[in-house]
Amino acid sequence: MTSDAPDWAKAACRDMDVDLWFREADQADTRLALSTCSGCEIRIECLEAAMDEEKGKGYQMRHGIRGGLTKGQRHDLAASRRKAARAAAAA
Ligand code: SF4
Repeated sequence: MTSDAPDWAKAACRDMDVDLWFREADQADTRLALSTCSGCEIRIECLEAAMDEEKGKGYQMRHGIRGGLTKGQRHDLAASRRKAARAAAAA
């Protein structure tokens, strides 16, 4: 799915320590990152940009939290979308 380019000037994370989004082993940092994403006005655009960039990539090639989803959640979402596309094509 192609998305409009996010307006990164509106990103809720723009003045924060970006490392918070990449310290998956630290639950407090992960909670803060996810909480920030949940209130971000460009969350959907950010998520779709990540999904576009990561298309065809496996779990290990995805990094950090983007658009309010962890890399595992985005990996699962990509699999769900592929499954839905296959079902739609077969219908
Ligand atoms: S959704 Fe999260 S990672 Fe994406 S721009 Fe907003 S705060 Fe940053």
